[in-house]
Amino acid sequence: MDSAFTCDGPASARGPLAERGVKRRGDRKTGFQQSLLLHVCCAPCAAGVIDVLGEEFELTAFFYNPNIYPPGEHFRRADQVRRLCRQLGVEIIAGEYDAHRWSRRMRGRGADREGGPHCAVCFQIRLAQTAVVAQERGFDYFATTLTISPHKSARIINRVGQRVARELRTKFYPADFKKRDGFKKSCQLSRKYGLYRQDYCGCIYSLREREERKAGRSDSTRAGARGDV
Ligand code: SF4
Repeated sequence: MDSAFTCDGPASARGPLAERGVKRRGDRKTGFQQSLLLHVCCAPCAAGVIDVLGEEFELTAFFYNPNIYPPGEHFRRADQVRRLCRQLGVEIIAGEYDAHRWSRRMRGRGADREGGPHCAVCFQIRLAQTAVVAQERGFDYFATTLTISPHKSARIINRVGQRVARELRTKFYPADFKKRDGFKKSCQLSRKYGLYRQDYCGCIYSLREREERKAGRSDSTRAGARGDV
């Protein structure tokens, strides 16, 4: 893992959230009643979700995405998240890039297209690690940015989140952040902050799918719909 990205420590008071008077973790004067560890898949999704949850919780971002391939793409997304968090004045924790462990867990799952059954396992891996960190560090809740993607099922993600929360005796905050134009707003915020927007979900399977799409071999409905997380 990029060691420089392990933990940025308490955020400074700069950034739009601070300017709007939004409270942050560690702010004793104006601190929130409840803290939330937000699993962040990428900067564009984080921009939309932080905008919503930052009004309600003492937020800390958690970048844990061992699914992302190749490693250079992982570090690029991680850097974008770090930059966004600095801009917004949100503390960030980075998980390990344990891509081998992710690959082992995914082996034999019949991975093909995004949205297949293997994606539920991928969600489980990432949310379980988020729940562990949330529990170890005493967060009241954990949540994920994943549901802001129009390509991902909030029903499945929320079910996975609630299951790992039960197993680890912590609390998951279920949501569907794509609702109420959430995805559209995240695109607007991405432009505002000048964020890199990837055009595939993250894993090697979704990368291959993108290549097929580019080559015009993917099915036409998918080809027209993508261009985001
Ligand atoms: S398509 Fe996305 S959610 Fe599904 S396994 Fe790949 S990285 Fe994970």
